[in-house]
Amino acid sequence: MSAMDTDIFISGAGIAGMVLAALLAKRGWRVTICDPSTPPDSEGAEGSDLRSTAYLEPSVAVLREAGLWEHLSPDATPLEALRVVDSAGWPPRQTALRTFRPDDLGLMAFGWNVMNWRAHRTLTEALSQAPGIDLRLGTGFADMTARDDMAFVTLTDGSRLTARLVVGADGRTSAVREAAGIDTRIRRYGQKALAFACTHVEPHERISTEIYNAGGAMVTVPLSDHDGQPASSIVWMDDGARVNDLAQMDEGAFNQRLTERALALLGPMRRVTPLRVWPVVTQTARTLTAKRTVLVAEAAHVLPPIGAQGLNTSIADIAALADSLQDDPGAPGALSLYARARQADMVGRAAAIDAYNRLCRSGLAPVQRLRAEGLKLVNDVAPLRRRVMMAGMGALKSDRSAAPR
Ligand SMILES: Cc1cc2nc3c(=O)[nH]c(=O)nc-3n(C[C@H](O)[C@H](O)[C@H](O)COP(=O)(O)OP(=O)(O)OC[C@H]3O[C@@H](n4cnc5c(N)ncnc54)[C@H](O)[C@@H]3O)c2cc1C
Repeated sequence: MSAMDTDIFISGAGIAGMVLAALLAKRGWRVTICDPSTPPDSEGAEGSDLRSTAYLEPSVAVLREAGLWEHLSPDATPLEALRVVDSAGWPPRQTALRTFRPDDLGLMAFGWNVMNWRAHRTLTEALSQAPGIDLRLGTGFADMTARDDMAFVTLTDGSRLTARLVVGADGRTSAVREAAGIDTRIRRYGQKALAFACTHVEPHERISTEIYNAGGAMVTVPLSDHDGQPASSIVWMDDGARVNDLAQMDEGAFNQRLTERALALLGPMRRVTPLRVWPVVTQTARTLTAKRTVLVAEAAHVLPPIGAQGLNTSIADIAALADSLQDDPGAPGALSLYARARQADMVGRAAAIDAYNRLCRSGLAPVQRLRAEGLKLVNDVAPLRRRVMMAGMGALKSDRSAAPR
């Protein structure tokens, strides 16, 4: 091992890549991680990621093991209930509302919400001081050659290094995936998602709300107060053309449309950050491994942003990969253990979210009626309700689970 520059090379210091680096270093591996971008230091900074992530309870257990939760928890807002609302028509009319509570599953909270730009900044600081991690920002992965016993990696600054294992954590257009010749399957919906934060008059009471209407779901996730006012992060999915129109609206018109779309459940709303527009797709890599190479997170799977599944599924990849590695972390045995642990869950979850998104966005009256009745049924029948909630939380099946303090 000692002849190698590093045990494990990770391409991509997004949230997933950094969590993986911290967990692997805790397990005693030497890790090198690179990213061409540097993290923004405020929400207004160029390229700031204005999404937030709801870390579900099992993911928090992984973050704790990686030594990261103590750094993230001061910025985390607990999700103490999930409210699901169905609506139809425009202006939207509420047709069903049900509230799911975590104590049904014996939990204090479903998860904890942190703005992504804050998580980037905090994790970068934590990694730059962690032993066993060589963090290289401003330099990207350029290419690799994989041999049976090691991989040769070239970075965008022309430097080279050797590693036992190369991990692609470099997002939906992964350069590692391309270098390894791994193809993807992609489903497009003609939908886009707007992501931003807003303040509102009514308190959110730490409840996250999903509101369905033709075009897709709007999700409000509680944040800590902003300038003394209750605040939430919003993901608003709709048909692409409608999202483009919304993004062009002046402030007053946008805020009015936002309040109407949210059924005024939080009172009048006001956007307080710039808007980011994201395409909504389901994309899965055809395989998760190649010689001396594995894919994790969005390099492996991109999901529509509903049910807080995206990054939580990624953290399940990370835990499975850390558990699969043996003396030689890039050996075929370790890679097939990882693929066996993750492939079926990833494909099944992508299919479920795909079907759910199609159901949620339908404007057809019979489908809308079915959706509203289905929501009432799931909530009102206790065993069914618990099964659905467990499935949503089950991105990570683990004995690491323990209520975060
Ligand atoms: C609107 C929206 C809301 C969401 N909300 C949630 C939520 O509430 N809960 C949840 O679990 N998930 C959510 N998701 C999904 C979640 O945000 C993603 O799963 C997560 O950000 C993906 O993380 P990642 O690290 O894989 O990719 P990224 O965040 O894209 O990180 C990839 C990194 O790789 C770097 N990179 C690119 N090219 C190279 C290269 N050549 N070399 C090295 N590095 C490179 C990039 O600079 C980047 O830093 C949401 C998604 C969207 C679109």
